[in-house]
Amino acid sequence: MPELPEVETVRRSLERATVGRVVRSAQVRRADVVRGIVNDAALLAGRRIGGVIRHGKQLAILAEADGHDGSCVCVHLGMSGSLRIGNGTTQLDAHTHVVWRLEGDQTVVFRDPRRFGGVWLFPSEANLRDTRWTALGPDALSIQPSALHERLQRTRRAIKAALLDQAVIAGLGNIYVDELLFQIGIHPEQPADTINFKRTQRMVRVMRRLLAKAIEAGGSTLRDYADAEGQAGRYQQSHLVYGRSGQPCRKCETNLNTHLVAGRTTVLCPACQPMFSSS
Ligand SMILES: [Zn+2]
Repeated sequence: MPELPEVETVRRSLERATVGRVVRSAQVRRADVVRGIVNDAALLAGRRIGGVIRHGKQLAILAEADGHDGSCVCVHLGMSGSLRIGNGTTQLDAHTHVVWRLEGDQTVVFRDPRRFGGVWLFPSEANLRDTRWTALGPDALSIQPSALHERLQRTRRAIKAALLDQAVIAGLGNIYVDELLFQIGIHPEQPADTINFKRTQRMVRVMRRLLAKAIEAGGSTLRDYADAEGQAGRYQQSHLVYGRSGQPCRKCETNLNTHLVAGRTTVLCPACQPMFSSS
């Protein structure tokens, strides 16, 4: 599933290719994938694209504010969704749910075979932020240590479960939570409220660096993830624990092992990530 670095990579590639262009038409090929009041204006048809924004793992394409209401299309890629730039010859299939045709023979195609993602239409960016996005915690790239600490103090759940909860912090999934907890030496089952402020500060510092490096590498491609231009990510080559169960830890050479935490397969180093470590 695309996490913050993958979604941010899609956002950047989509922004580069589409901002300033006029949407000539929008076609919904599968109605139940699109929520909200569906009409041409809401789907940005006839409007110029003004920006592409992101919060956590969700994207939104904004109409340029030019005196009209600023229609806004929120896209959640879910498990298998993609947004790709194409042209008039791009092949559409049964999993192609929405097609936007832009000036200059360009298309933006939303495809989602497993349909855990979707498209939500809003009259404005403010309306999106005041409704759908209020369910999300602060974005993982900009959350402040004090805000994260306060949120972690409120729950006895395993730290991994808390970090995966999009209402606590938005953007992290299984890959980057495992990488983060390894890098800071915290056991994934440690109760969230036992992590002190100093360690939370370090967590935020390491998380920003981890996410920035992953974005720089275009995200992680495990199966079919690619950015809006079809480029696969390269960060999977830098994973220290994710996908490396049974292999030696890159810090101490102990074999990495697998636990089930928060219902998710979790890879950790038993030596580098002791339970209740206080350092
Ligand atoms: Zn280790």
